[in-house]
Amino acid sequence: MKSIDCVLCDELGGELIFQNSHLRIIAPHEALYPGLIRVIWNSHAQEMTDLTFEHRSQMMKTVCLVEDMMRQIMLPIKINLASLGNAVPHLHWHIIPRWVDDTHFPLPIWGETQRQVSQAWLHEKAELATRLVQAIKEYFMQHESNQ
Ligand SMILES: [Zn+2]
Repeated sequence: MKSIDCVLCDELGGELIFQNSHLRIIAPHEALYPGLIRVIWNSHAQEMTDLTFEHRSQMMKTVCLVEDMMRQIMLPIKINLASLGNAVPHLHWHIIPRWVDDTHFPLPIWGETQRQVSQAWLHEKAELATRLVQAIKEYFMQHESNQ
């Protein structure tokens, strides 16, 4: 079901990494949050409990696969999983790598900025983010038939 004036019904939401009939994985490439990945349910559902049990499991399995690859490749001190949707009430999960010296640590990335980061820091993390995107693409290329 499509909702009128829903940006995630109308647009992919960033670089498409993988998509199947139910969900898609997106790299939004937000400058200050390198490596942030979103898993977006394709159809317009608002809450996890709008999905069937099978679909909830598929969503969380995908989120966990991305989290696992993010841990291995980007080596963050923490990963934040968030499903807010207050601004865009179309079901999506944020998977966010965090470091003690990122712009908002220890607050959520939507909190008040705690510090500036250098271009070198951003460059280093962006390189890791590129590797992560490539790894996710390769994983789903190999396993797509099982999703
Ligand atoms: Zn929508």
